[in-house]
Amino acid sequence: MKRKTGQDRSVTANWRPATRAIRGGTARSEWGETSEALFLTSGYAYDCAEDAAARFSGDQVGMTYSRLQNPTVEMLEERIALMEGAEACRTMATGMAAMTAVLLCQLQTGDHLVGGRAAFGSCRWLTDTLLPKFGIGTTTVDARDPQAFLDAVRPETKVFFFETPANPTMDVADLAAICAIARERGITTVVDNAFATPALQRPMEFGADVTAYSATKMMDGQGRVLAGAVCGTREFIDNTLLPFTRNTGPTLSAFNAWVVMKGLETLDLRIRRQSEHSVKVGQFLEARVPRILHPGLPSHPQHELAMRQMDACGSIFAFEVADRAQAHALLNALELIDISNNIGDSRSLMTHPASTTHAGVSAEVRAEMGVTEGLLRINVGLEDPQDLIDDLDQALRRAGL
Ligand SMILES: *Cc1c(COP(=O)(O)O)cnc(C)c1O
Repeated sequence: MKRKTGQDRSVTANWRPATRAIRGGTARSEWGETSEALFLTSGYAYDCAEDAAARFSGDQVGMTYSRLQNPTVEMLEERIALMEGAEACRTMATGMAAMTAVLLCQLQTGDHLVGGRAAFGSCRWLTDTLLPKFGIGTTTVDARDPQAFLDAVRPETKVFFFETPANPTMDVADLAAICAIARERGITTVVDNAFATPALQRPMEFGADVTAYSATKMMDGQGRVLAGAVCGTREFIDNTLLPFTRNTGPTLSAFNAWVVMKGLETLDLRIRRQSEHSVKVGQFLEARVPRILHPGLPSHPQHELAMRQMDACGSIFAFEVADRAQAHALLNALELIDISNNIGDSRSLMTHPASTTHAGVSAEVRAEMGVTEGLLRINVGLEDPQDLIDDLDQALRRAGL
């Protein structure tokens, strides 16, 4: 395959972000296609037996099996790495496959992890249930307070793991402060950057070692496929992550990689427009509901920090009504916005985390995280924001607000 400049770091490293999102990673085949080719193949054939042997020994560059390499998947990985400003990226079948792999590949019995308390439900399951099962100690802290990470550090602490903004309470973690604490102690910081994406926030610029993604969300951006990704140094990806993923197989399908790659071309446009819509809808709701958790509004206690770390606030925020009954009544009265637990879609979606995404987390942990019975989370899409406001207005009235 002819390698054009989309894969050549001596060229792509000089490209500005918009160019990287469109051209990064592209490797044209001999057919000269403009849109990246979709290589739906599980295996590869060799010209001779010696080539096969050389490919396996690593003496010859090339592909052997799609659990390990695929041209379409590699194009996506190079594009994400470029957008992130990372040396390397590996994609996974889902965001949770990425989170599981990035933790299990580097932790072993006797190690300790400090995690953010407010987190996606399945991420909390990893830290609360899966890791302790293998003798890996975990402590969850309020990630809004960098000192809480420092206080939780033990001699055997190997990893800090948190989201910012966090799902679904929109807690914002101070990336520079937390990463500095980790750096001084040789602790690896893993940031789940799903809400912001590299279009709005690049944690490595603040000292993070590894970023991990649910690419299902804003990166695909149109609610079509599940995907995940891990970015880090070449050394971390090749020598720590790859031995784990090559042999356990949480591989992203070439088709899903192709879909996400197309999504990345419009990520910057979508997330900036959705951020604007999110602020408009947030300003409307702020006057109508008892409490709003919106990093793009000055009422958010960490608004300034959020805006320092992020180029815009993103598509997602949360707000509170009285209780579960009122939250469900509001959802049931919606006519345009869908009741859906997905996020990052170009459609507006709303969910009640306590009874959906965080139903698997115990009531005590939900309370500690701030996932109250009246909490609702909204993903603001690309529809006309006035139509969204009109829909919320009529639904709020019908729910007694
Ligand atoms: C959705 C999500 C995940 C899990 O990703 P999947 O692609 O659904 O497996 C992890 N972290 C955060 C913050 C998420 O929003």
